[in-house]
Amino acid sequence: MGRSNSDEEKVEGARPAARVAVDPLSGREVIFAPGRAKRPGSSSALISSAADDEAETCPFCEGHEGETPPELFALGGDPERAPDSPGWKVRAVPNLYPAFERQQVVIHSPDHVRSFGNLSDGQLALIVEAWARIAEEAWSEGFDHLLVFVNEGEAAGASLPHSHSQTVWLDREPPQIAAESPRLRRGNCALCTLLADLPPALRLAERELENGTALLAVSPAGRAPYELLIAPSEHLADAFGETEQLAAGLALAADGIRRLNAVEGPIPFNLWLHNFQGDGHWHLELVPRLSVFAGIELGAGIYVNTLEPGEAATRLRG
Ligand SMILES: [Zn+2]
Ligand SMILES: [Zn+2]
Ligand SMILES: [Zn+2]
Repeated sequence: MGRSNSDEEKVEGARPAARVAVDPLSGREVIFAPGRAKRPGSSSALISSAADDEAETCPFCEGHEGETPPELFALGGDPERAPDSPGWKVRAVPNLYPAFERQQVVIHSPDHVRSFGNLSDGQLALIVEAWARIAEEAWSEGFDHLLVFVNEGEAAGASLPHSHSQTVWLDREPPQIAAESPRLRRGNCALCTLLADLPPALRLAERELENGTALLAVSPAGRAPYELLIAPSEHLADAFGETEQLAAGLALAADGIRRLNAVEGPIPFNLWLHNFQGDGHWHLELVPRLSVFAGIELGAGIYVNTLEPGEAATRLRG
């Protein structure tokens, strides 16, 4: 490994020549050290282009339903359609290699769409409907938390290039949610404060909601270059109960991905929903995987970000 931006141990002593920030949602510490890399990533980190026969061998494409485990449900098709046959828009199947007892895959499109950024608003609305349906089932069976996430690109953990999300049923709040939950309660909410104080320079796009707007912004204390935050401007809880608002949030995430692709190419990323039992302020976090989390991040829990949020926003505004 050369003297690249992954060589994080180079920062020595207690006085890094950089700006320290604390993410108010999680309490996570971030060091902005723009001098450490001219570019946040290298082209080798990008998602490779499709192989010629990729769609023909893709188990998530329409017509290949027999190559997945039997479907849990499908949306957007003819109500008379037989399970595991063509004619659907979004399809939910069990995860073939689950890490948890209950883990589902939501296939985002019948066509071989490789990026979440290329899904239509109509598909995004159906994806939210699928998540909400899975959430309802998880609640009815007594589970406490549903983690929903999208991994895109091998470097972000995706095993198949066809756009999909995963839902994991948890019998307790996972540590990341438990850390954020007390900070995001109505009346004393760090996300409401963050959004109210957010510099206009970090705002990228908005969507009108019934109440207020949903906002796409560069995270002011992101752990990775170009980290994005998407949230309703009003304090909204229960993302699965307000599916139109969550769909607006996903449309903003797709907007953010298109901006990232325009600046850096097809970057791998992780996108997840943070939704809370009780009345925590839901939000989406999108972490591009252009940098490698190394000793400082994993050993100390301090993240070194080589791109200042203001500079990231300038580039993404185009
Ligand atoms: Zn496919
Ligand atoms: Zn709030
Ligand atoms: Zn969060």
